[in-house]
Amino acid sequence: MSKLITLKDKQFKPYILECDILEAVKKMANVINVELKNDLPLFLVVLNGAFMFASDLLKEITIPCEVSFIKVASYDGVGSSGTVNELIGLNENLKGRTVVIVEDIIDTGLTINRIAEILYLKEVKQIKVATALLKPDTYKKDLKINYVAHKIKNEFVVGYGLDYLGYGRNLKEVYILA
Ligand code: 5GP
Repeated sequence: MSKLITLKDKQFKPYILECDILEAVKKMANVINVELKNDLPLFLVVLNGAFMFASDLLKEITIPCEVSFIKVASYDGVGSSGTVNELIGLNENLKGRTVVIVEDIIDTGLTINRIAEILYLKEVKQIKVATALLKPDTYKKDLKINYVAHKIKNEFVVGYGLDYLGYGRNLKEVYILA
């Protein structure tokens, strides 16, 4: 495995090997192939971070399914103190569908919960969440995270789709701050 890497002003060390990621993703796909075989699921990939995970996962999905891509836009609403999130790229009619949200990483869970809220407003039948990485010490929300490739400690990671200041998304392993 490779050694320390530098991205902008920070150094990162290897944390999860490519073979371990791929093994976990294949296992996840096998479970989904059984659990959702009669559901015609729509996989909704959350860009940018989930692109690499989605590619590996979907190559192992053998049941009939659709795949689509969204982005979460955050902006401060005029006259409101909070951040409003909007899903960009959501063109499908989701009524009655089984939707699998494909995420790169779940930290506090704010993002995934907001996405789920918006999807429930579109009258989906059920939501499943598949994530490459989960920080269980930080995630305290009620929304069930159905499929997790790797649980990690509460530290900043890059690679396998995740970036630091725009860099590192292309790395095929997961790295952690050195
Ligand atoms: P949450 O809303 O669950 O707190 O955070 C989700 C988003 O924060 C992820 O989609 C990702 O963009 C970013 N994020 C959370 N933890 C990390 C991390 O360790 N590394 C990187 N690169 N991004 C993270």
